[in-house]
Amino acid sequence: MLYQRSSALFSEAQKYIPGGVNSPVRAFKSVGGVPVFMQSAKGAYLTDADGRQYIDYINSWGPAILGHTHPKVLEDVQKQAENGFSFGTPTELETEIAKLIVENVPNIDEIRMVNSGTEACMSAVRLARGFTGRDKIIKFEGCYHGHSDAFLIKAGSGAATFGNPSSPGVTQGTAMDTLLAQFNDIEQVRDLFRLNEGEIAAVIVEPVAGNMGCVLPENDFLKHLRKICDENGALLIFDEVMTGFRLAFGGAQEVFGVGADLVTYGKVIGGGLPVGAFAGRREIMEHLAPNGGVYQAGTLSGNPLAMRAGLSTLELIKSDEKIYSRINKTTETLDFEIGKILNSKGIQHRINRKGSMMSIFFHIKSVANFAEAAAANHPLFNNFFHQLLEQGIYLPPSGFETWFISDAIREVEIEKTLEAVQKFEY
Ligand code: PMP
Repeated sequence: MLYQRSSALFSEAQKYIPGGVNSPVRAFKSVGGVPVFMQSAKGAYLTDADGRQYIDYINSWGPAILGHTHPKVLEDVQKQAENGFSFGTPTELETEIAKLIVENVPNIDEIRMVNSGTEACMSAVRLARGFTGRDKIIKFEGCYHGHSDAFLIKAGSGAATFGNPSSPGVTQGTAMDTLLAQFNDIEQVRDLFRLNEGEIAAVIVEPVAGNMGCVLPENDFLKHLRKICDENGALLIFDEVMTGFRLAFGGAQEVFGVGADLVTYGKVIGGGLPVGAFAGRREIMEHLAPNGGVYQAGTLSGNPLAMRAGLSTLELIKSDEKIYSRINKTTETLDFEIGKILNSKGIQHRINRKGSMMSIFFHIKSVANFAEAAAANHPLFNNFFHQLLEQGIYLPPSGFETWFISDAIREVEIEKTLEAVQKFEY
């Protein structure tokens, strides 16, 4: 039987861990069924607790851009571990990784390491507020910036209204300071600035959204955001937790030619260990403690094992920048070939893709914002997901998630994936 041991492990986990998981999406709530418990990962493949192999299109939700357990990263982390796990002091490694990033990413002079994307976004917003002396922020419906209170706000009845908390435990007071707009709707952003003149500290955006499925900025959306922020003395924050070092070494800033005031990172920057970071121009970053008054800290921030995994990963990418053309090409091939197969089966769909991020929306022609992403046929996606899973293809377990293509996925894996899609019964 498939997933036999995963089933047993899930029952056991539920006794001790809320919902049996340490992050909700892992519970397969939206697709249903038993979450697959993984045991090991190498290259393009995951191996589950029953010993079955899967081609991985999640890649730990983005970090494993080189594929899993790259031998060089493994060797470097093992060596580093022999020197100790954590010192709580500065180390040379932290400067090395900071230097590599600052010298190769546009627009940033300084970078501060944290332990997750959530921390990075939360801290960037605090810094933006401290720097501007303003309280409010604008975020976009369907964009996810981690689980800190200010971001867990969903749309109210329109751009002009205040957001409502989308989680119990987030106070109305917090919700009041988070204004919402639809992704790709620049007029709503203009309206919010008009209605809240002099009060908006920052606009935070996923430059390519990956948390409502993959949704691309359209009609120079990012350039317009840049301009509106400049006109209003607000900071533009690019949440590059997904796009950073993935779309290009310089992330979305490089790809779209739009500079942000603050940029947040996660995922690839830690090479699979828990790392996040935020970065910006010196004049802004110098407002952070210990030089400035905006407080931010972390016992394990800049942890040597995590820095080693991140630095080795970034160095490997830097030493072979063809990686981007390879993973982008793989993604393009998957897009075209999967599209062809679905068309031949008469399944209307839309594939959104940027670089090595993509997702499929069923029964909808285009998806440019959350409302459209939500209007796709999600039960059909769930069916697609399960049929592929049974054939050893591991897609993100929700139609609101993005697939992350790694450099370990090559022709053989593409072939196997297409064969599985070919067998999809609608
Ligand atoms: N921002 C974006 C764009 C993300 O995709 C995520 C996580 N998927 C986060 C922030 C939060 O990162 P973390 O889960 O590391 O806290």
